[in-house]
Amino acid sequence: MRVRPPRGVADRWLAIAHERFGAEGLRIGAARACVLDVIARDAQCLVGAQEIVAAIRRDGGTGSQASVYRVFDDAYRLGLLRRELDDSGGVRYEIVLPESHHHHLVDDASGQTTPFHDDELEAAIVAAAHRLGVRMTGHEVRIRGVIAPHESRGPMPPT
Ligand SMILES: [Zn+2]
Ligand SMILES: [Zn+2]
Repeated sequence: MRVRPPRGVADRWLAIAHERFGAEGLRIGAARACVLDVIARDAQCLVGAQEIVAAIRRDGGTGSQASVYRVFDDAYRLGLLRRELDDSGGVRYEIVLPESHHHHLVDDASGQTTPFHDDELEAAIVAAAHRLGVRMTGHEVRIRGVIAPHESRGPMPPT
């Protein structure tokens, strides 16, 4: 049940990002467009801000690090990015789109994060929110553990 982001997610996110930046009166010049392109391509699951900065450099982006971080802040404020702290306190970002909704498995040994989606988990969260009487606007789940490569995954066997 591990997911790869579907193709087209980057383009969909970019279209929405350009629209929201435009609606805020934030003009998208070459430097800002380059940052958004790299975020769309590389931040489909949690990625450190510094890795994005490095990727922008590799792509020939010319903006200063401060200007790159301003784009992150604007995108976060406009609801285009989620962010969370990793175990060492660094900030990681990922793009927000309904069709790329997923959660994270964290391997205790390596600290590596793997995205997953689970329909039953989603249904349970919706039901819990209902029982709690909240109109849910978002949720996060992180499962930590030891990922055993040979253990069978998938639906629990019937009892
Ligand atoms: Zn993710
Ligand atoms: Zn969910």
